[in-house]
Amino acid sequence: MDICVIGAGYVGLVTSACLAYLGNHVIAVESNPERLSSLQAGGVPFFEPGLEEFVKKTSATGNLTFSDNLAAAVQKAQIIFIAVGTPSLPNGEPDLSQVMVVARAIGGALDDSKRRIVVNKSTVPVGSGNWVEMLVSQGVANAQKSAKETVPPASTARSEGPSFVVVSNPEFLREGSAIADSFYPDRIVVGSIDEQATSVMKNLYKPIINQTFEQPSFAKRPEKLESVPFVVTDLASAELIKYSANAFLAMKISFANEISGLCEKVGADVKQVAQGIGLDYRIGKAFLNAGVGWGGSCFGKDVSALMQVAKEYSYPTSLLEATVAVNERQRLVVIKKLQEELKILKGRTIGLMGLSFKPDTDDLRDAPALTIAYQLLKMGASVKAYDPVSNEVCKTLHPHLDVVYATDVEDLASDCDALVLVTEWAQFKKADWKKIAKLMRWPLVIDGRNALNEDDIRACGITYRGVGC
Ligand code: NAD
Repeated sequence: MDICVIGAGYVGLVTSACLAYLGNHVIAVESNPERLSSLQAGGVPFFEPGLEEFVKKTSATGNLTFSDNLAAAVQKAQIIFIAVGTPSLPNGEPDLSQVMVVARAIGGALDDSKRRIVVNKSTVPVGSGNWVEMLVSQGVANAQKSAKETVPPASTARSEGPSFVVVSNPEFLREGSAIADSFYPDRIVVGSIDEQATSVMKNLYKPIINQTFEQPSFAKRPEKLESVPFVVTDLASAELIKYSANAFLAMKISFANEISGLCEKVGADVKQVAQGIGLDYRIGKAFLNAGVGWGGSCFGKDVSALMQVAKEYSYPTSLLEATVAVNERQRLVVIKKLQEELKILKGRTIGLMGLSFKPDTDDLRDAPALTIAYQLLKMGASVKAYDPVSNEVCKTLHPHLDVVYATDVEDLASDCDALVLVTEWAQFKKADWKKIAKLMRWPLVIDGRNALNEDDIRACGITYRGVGC
């Protein structure tokens, strides 16, 4: 099929490469000139394991190309994916301006040659499907109006205008495992009441639904995966599924964090508690790790957007509010522990292990490390930081963050009064604690993810403090 994907960020680029790998002809449209030239030169403008090699391979087949010519890409395509960003505004509502621009531009580019399916892959609030349909129609009307003004009509016969339908197809991939998540998702959700559109979408995803494609060497098919559920809903339900899924996951982490505080009071160990409750299949083990809380581009933004939607209907969202409040409090738990151990933080040097909001990505959006760094600086401490991939991104995006960037873990540990694990990168778990103990001014490690080997650290004479244990 001919596909156009608008926006080549984490979601758009991964979607484009995967659909191209499955044999479709994909044009990924990107408006950021630096991103576009990097993509056209065979690079990937952000860190995602395996993606650069994958994009290179699919581009070499001729199935994946990059362009900034939205109109040409739209005209060629049968299916048009909107995959632009929907970041949070200061009031918590999602900023839909990128979606608005793109939807109107799609309308302006449509012609009568075929019926198009416009797919909302960006995470957008309930009701956005109808809104996008209105914007595409406005784009069509504007284009028809300017065509009439420039070209005198050849006949009085009235054209019916281009035919299109808007469907919702929310994305559930996780940064760090984005390719595998796209090939082996837990489900594919399509929101539409248009039978022809749902049938085309099912056909597009058939190789994934039936798992008939050849598994790429770097994204192995999970054992026993034979098929993927294809869930068809109405538009509003599909939009709500995406927000509710993220809100539920954020709530699960906040729940574990709330319990972790109680564990510290009563002398219990949150890791044991999480294991004990997670073995109940109704609860499940995932997302029960206590620590410095959730971050990233999706959870905070999507929980806020869900609360905003509810507000429009004067509907209370106490659970969601508590989810956010616990998370805000949790980010500063490591600072409380530093105060307990070091008493005075002014003049101390604290080393942050990790900056990105989670391992295997360089994404710093809403990263707990930034909250912790800014708070420590405010309290008069000096802050050092080391992240295996995000140091440079952080320097560029946060030029005023007064942090000394280290070149490796040992460089980070040198002359520190404490190390705080913020992002559980694999290399931090394998750190040489004996060496680190000698380099530190004061041997203290705060494990903000409960991910380090406590016994190994203590054996090197370092004081170890986890979260909730
Ligand atoms: P992103 O900011 O990384 O990428 C968006 C891209 O769209 C950028 O490269 C930007 O330059 C481009 N763009 C903006 N306007 C454009 C235009 N007019 N024409 C062409 N390109 C344009 O965002 P992302 O992380 O890929 O997220 C995209 C959407 O998917 C968001 O709604 C997000 O909430 C959702 N989502 C993200 C993830 C994730 O893990 N990142 C997961 C699931 C869903």
